[in-house]
Amino acid sequence: MLKLYNTLTRKKEEFKPIMKGHVGFYSCGPTVYSFQHIGNLRSYIFNDLLKRVLLYNGFKVKHVMNYTDVGHLTSDADEGEDKIEKAAKKENKKASEIADFYAKIFEKDCKKLNILQPDIICKASEHIKEQIEFVKKLEEKGYTYKTSDGIYFDTSKMEDYGNMGKIDKEGLEAGKRVSLGEKKNKTDFALWKFSEEPGKRQQEWASPWGIGFPGWHIECSAMSSKYLGEQFDIHSGGEDHIQVHHTNEIAQSECAFGKKPWVKYWLHGAFLTFKGEKVSKSKGGLYTISELDEQGFEPLSFRYLCLNTHYRKQLSFSLEFLEGAKNSFERLKNIIIDLKAKKDSNKTKDFEKYKEKFRKNIDDDLNIPKALAVLWDVLRDKELGSQEKLKLAYDFDKVFGLGIKEMKEEEITEDIEALVNKREEARKKKNFAEADKIRDELSKKGIVLEDTPQGVRWKRA
Ligand code: AMP
Ligand code: ZN
Repeated sequence: MLKLYNTLTRKKEEFKPIMKGHVGFYSCGPTVYSFQHIGNLRSYIFNDLLKRVLLYNGFKVKHVMNYTDVGHLTSDADEGEDKIEKAAKKENKKASEIADFYAKIFEKDCKKLNILQPDIICKASEHIKEQIEFVKKLEEKGYTYKTSDGIYFDTSKMEDYGNMGKIDKEGLEAGKRVSLGEKKNKTDFALWKFSEEPGKRQQEWASPWGIGFPGWHIECSAMSSKYLGEQFDIHSGGEDHIQVHHTNEIAQSECAFGKKPWVKYWLHGAFLTFKGEKVSKSKGGLYTISELDEQGFEPLSFRYLCLNTHYRKQLSFSLEFLEGAKNSFERLKNIIIDLKAKKDSNKTKDFEKYKEKFRKNIDDDLNIPKALAVLWDVLRDKELGSQEKLKLAYDFDKVFGLGIKEMKEEEITEDIEALVNKREEARKKKNFAEADKIRDELSKKGIVLEDTPQGVRWKRA
């Protein structure tokens, strides 16, 4: 039985989809105005693990993810500049060029991290019609009002507004005189913003209310319902979205469709932190995947690091931790490569037990760290045959996504191959002094040799 922690109820619940065997899954995607740092990418690894666990459980998953390429302002409170417009101005490019450029880099990073592609990727700028229709629906039902800068959602009209985030409405009301502007309530949010000076923004559209652009939250409500229907199973995102973005998505959608709950299960991934603080783009981010790669950390060692912390716990990042993950991942690779060279088989009674244990852990609200420990138990097992170990590793990797099936020795470069052969010759001629000299030479190049019954093997130190 798959259990997931639902932010709506703050409980682990048995997962039962609306339609038996099928899962409608929406995850909030990136705002494509800049590079995604490893904090953002931790969120996408979490989404990926969730999807893989659903697939492992035999569900057919329809996964939809958006690209925010318009409407996300520098402040979540509907103020400040549009992040994409700001980046376009700074880089002297078209808004669409900015969005495409960063979306492509994001896609490449996801591929390097073995993150499965969503079934549908939808861009906010390509769904303006749907967003306008959505706002119209809310207007017809009496949930909106107009100010000089846009159309707003009146949160006082929704009795249980802010339930998921346990928002303290009274506390907010008390402080409302601080910066309410024309808004009726502190928690009200923009559905449609007017262009300050039409013709100046790159991205603006005509609407029944005036030229402008959609608010940030409306895109996710409009696009998820377009592709997944008016009610669906799972919505995910980073924990920073609970209070504002997801709270407002719920408000719009439940008021528009009249269905409660609009989404059955809400899952949120905890932050990646550095020196005790949330890593955020506005503070300059941290590393990107390419930057880590340049420092000798292959992308999958970052994925391996993420697998070691439960998704609801913060991951405190440091290069030392990553170094530890890299070493474990290298060890895993070497063991797998060794197993692939062996042919022995012995299916002990523990074979099925390992499978059960693995399943129990992943089904317990994605306890991936414990599931990973089961893999290590398998690899350390003294009785189980190599073939059986590999079978289990391949099976578990449907969830881990570490590329275990593809693990093979690195391609040897010509000069290294020549040295390895030269050393073999020397050894055959019992010229051990020469063989040792070559071994030292290789070691200086970062190559370690290992004499195995199957012949000499090399790896990078
Ligand atoms: P953005 O591109 O800013 O819209 O963010 C993309 C995703 O990354 C969102 O789901 C955020 O919740 C998530 N996110 C942002 N910062 C972090 C962090 N430090 N750790 C984990 N997830 C994050
Ligand atoms: Zn969203």
